[in-house]
Amino acid sequence: MDETLKSLKEILGQVADLEASVAVLEWDQQTYMPPGGADGRSMALSTVSRLAHESFIDDRVGELLSALEPGLASLDPDSDEARLVRVTRRQYDKARKVPAQFVAEFRRVTSLSFQTWQEARVRSNFALFRPHLERVVEMRRQYAGFFAPYDSVYDPPLDDHEPGMKTAELKAIFEALRPRQVKLIQAIAEKPPVDDSLLRLNYDEAKQWDFGMEVAKSFGYDLSRGREDRSAHPFTTGFNTGDVRITTRLDRNYLPEGMFGTFHETGHALYDQGLPQRLERTPIARSLSYAFHESQSRTWENLVGRSRPFWKHYYPRLQAYFPEQLGSVDLDTFYRAVNRVVPSFIRTEADEATYNLHIMLRLDLEMAFLEGRLAVADLPEAWASGMREYLGITPPDDKVGVLQDVHWSTGAVGYFPTYALGNLLAAQLWEKAQSDIPDLSKQIERGEFRDLLAWQRENVHQHGGKYEPMELIVKATGTPLTPEPYLRYLWAKYGEIYGL
Ligand code: ZN
Repeated sequence: MDETLKSLKEILGQVADLEASVAVLEWDQQTYMPPGGADGRSMALSTVSRLAHESFIDDRVGELLSALEPGLASLDPDSDEARLVRVTRRQYDKARKVPAQFVAEFRRVTSLSFQTWQEARVRSNFALFRPHLERVVEMRRQYAGFFAPYDSVYDPPLDDHEPGMKTAELKAIFEALRPRQVKLIQAIAEKPPVDDSLLRLNYDEAKQWDFGMEVAKSFGYDLSRGREDRSAHPFTTGFNTGDVRITTRLDRNYLPEGMFGTFHETGHALYDQGLPQRLERTPIARSLSYAFHESQSRTWENLVGRSRPFWKHYYPRLQAYFPEQLGSVDLDTFYRAVNRVVPSFIRTEADEATYNLHIMLRLDLEMAFLEGRLAVADLPEAWASGMREYLGITPPDDKVGVLQDVHWSTGAVGYFPTYALGNLLAAQLWEKAQSDIPDLSKQIERGEFRDLLAWQRENVHQHGGKYEPMELIVKATGTPLTPEPYLRYLWAKYGEIYGL
């Protein structure tokens, strides 16, 4: 078995190296590459992705897996070896269904589509982006076809982000959540609005950057294994546990954009830096799902970064960075401002109470275009009418409407729901962390985050991608995924702020 496993790991290591190379090319494309590099880069990405895919779906991998599987019975089912074989088998069977030619073509199409989206967004010109998105949707449908039969055409892309999850389960969770979340927003709407104009003054970008990095470091982000750069859409990428990078987007006239964006991406980076080194260069050296990844970023952005204990410690520091803007603003006014609930156009700037409604809109739309019920040409109007229905506001243009998110341009369909699931997972993990670390609030008030990070390392990060997401939430908290902790958290927090 040892030799066979070694042979398998060798191939998987090469695949991981090729995938890491793709990630470097993508990171560069989104940070420093000049616009003229678009065509050449899309070819390079296409070639390297195809090589990675071809090496992974090689017959030899299937033979090695088949040779290893009979021996699994004698192993601890949770051992690294047993899990590695199981997860690789699952991914292998999936990947074998997708022709290498399709992978290369999809890469090429989405690379150009991403490049065009950037320009279309700046110019608020959906017509420019439309033919690209049409091609992406067409190819996504074709992709789902490789996995037929399925209950929903949305199942295959969802499974790529949340292994094992079905569209029907997702819809059930959202339907349980929606009415209670809408009720909360209505209750808040009846209260006097909170003024957040103090966050919209002129905030020097270099100082915003410095404050964000000061907090990121105190959370535990190790800069000898990471760095921050600027990009049109903030993201985190890890090439290995020794090189995990974040990006940010700063807005001189809106402090929360860069600040909470940095806290958020730091949460992602802490996860990737905490992945087990012993699993490096294997398919389980990564997060077990997008929602789990998002639960970690949400924890640092919201449960920590928008909490009163956090600002008790950090507000004086922020005031020192911006004495003119905040010197005469008291903590309570600031705390209420960063937690203001108001329907808004941009998802990434949405408050915790309205956030999931942005997701529900996107889920409706991507299911509709995938199922062929909605033409891409009609998307801007469908977006606007969805915004009116869910949030009662109409976007003035496509830049703050249908063009705001990068996801569809890169071919990512089935991704958005993981943000909402991430919120639920974060709240459920948080309740458990609070009971395991009784003085957690006090620690945060002192700017100490070591115990919290250690808790995440122990209960989430160290497992890498060994488990399915719904397995790990039970392992970590003792309960299956439920929206209850999230709703408890929202009602308690906003109950206090708005006097509900
Ligand atoms: Zn995120």
